[in-house]
Amino acid sequence: MTQPQLPDAALGIAHVSSPVTGKIVSNETCLKGKSASFVRHTVIDISDTLLEGKCLVGQAFGVLAPGMNEKGKPHKVRLYSLACPSDGENGDGKVISTTTKREIGEYYPQKTGDDPNDHSLFLGVCSNYLCNLKPGDEVRITGPNGKRFLLPSKTEQHDYLFVATGTGIAPFRGMALELLEKNSTTSQVHLLMGAPYTTDLIYDDLFKRLEKEHKNFHYHTAISREPTLDGGPGQYVHHYLSKHINIFGQFLENPRTLLYICGLAGMQSGLFKVMAEHSIGNNYFTIREKLADIPPSDWDVNQVRKCVKITDRCMVEVY
Ligand SMILES: Cc1cc2nc3c(=O)[nH]c(=O)nc-3n(C[C@H](O)[C@H](O)[C@H](O)COP(=O)(O)OP(=O)(O)OC[C@H]3O[C@@H](n4cnc5c(N)ncnc54)[C@H](O)[C@@H]3O)c2cc1C
Repeated sequence: MTQPQLPDAALGIAHVSSPVTGKIVSNETCLKGKSASFVRHTVIDISDTLLEGKCLVGQAFGVLAPGMNEKGKPHKVRLYSLACPSDGENGDGKVISTTTKREIGEYYPQKTGDDPNDHSLFLGVCSNYLCNLKPGDEVRITGPNGKRFLLPSKTEQHDYLFVATGTGIAPFRGMALELLEKNSTTSQVHLLMGAPYTTDLIYDDLFKRLEKEHKNFHYHTAISREPTLDGGPGQYVHHYLSKHINIFGQFLENPRTLLYICGLAGMQSGLFKVMAEHSIGNNYFTIREKLADIPPSDWDVNQVRKCVKITDRCMVEVY
């Protein structure tokens, strides 16, 4: 079995107290067709700042939105995953990117005392600030953050299963480009992307192009609110994994394979249950005794959170 060795990642070079100033290069939508979501590929020039050349694919950076919160304090930093390879969008470490989704909805009570009748528009502070920025606008950035959700130092020693939902696709854009286009890897790379509707697939054209150009890259999509092509019900990523266990079972049993999961909090739970049901989880997580006697199909999200511990071959970033 090949245990992954991770590179030493620089951390916290730019603190909240002394952020660097980046400049927006572009901020284009990265969805096609009509979607209820708004997601942008936000590209930021960080040249001549402390962060230039210092961010690794898989890491995140912080964004400080201007203004104050309801307590009169500056807004807290929000993290955004890098969506580019380690040497950035242009290969020189000067321009980074992320995948920004507007947090948008109607108010609902968050704590006791909140007005249950208030259903006015809720706009997340930082995501909307970031999505509104135009080329040339300045943005305060901190980081880098994260030292575990990284590609291994010796990428050729491994094969990869990336599983994403929503903006969890951001690091996999960077990783796929890094592995396939920068390193011309011969490793096998599977990307499984989950979305409610086909129109919510982020960077869909890019991944289709990569699949066409690289025979070792396999792009899978699980659409939860549309029937499958064979007329079956919509499926989440764990349903897809289960349905195609003939492909993924063998792949996950291969000692070279690393599993990366990024996206909505809790998404790992369904995946781990399916893997445990098919007895292919052992290399990716260990199960505390308490859960050992309960059939995986009965595990609930809390039990998974408390009793399933990931190994070195599994990287999880959910939020
Ligand atoms: C490691 C990491 C990586 C991340 N990467 C990305 C990324 O690549 N792209 C991305 O878009 N995001 C990413 N995020 C999430 C991001 O950091 C922010 O949390 C997100 O953009 C929302 O921030 P906001 O300031 O817009 O929303 P906020 O103003 O912080 O609002 C969000 C909070 O408001 C509350 N809220 C939400 N909806 C309602 C409602 N209807 N009524 C009342 N209250 C509500 C909830 O408590 C919620 O936590 C990442 C997070 C982490 C931890």
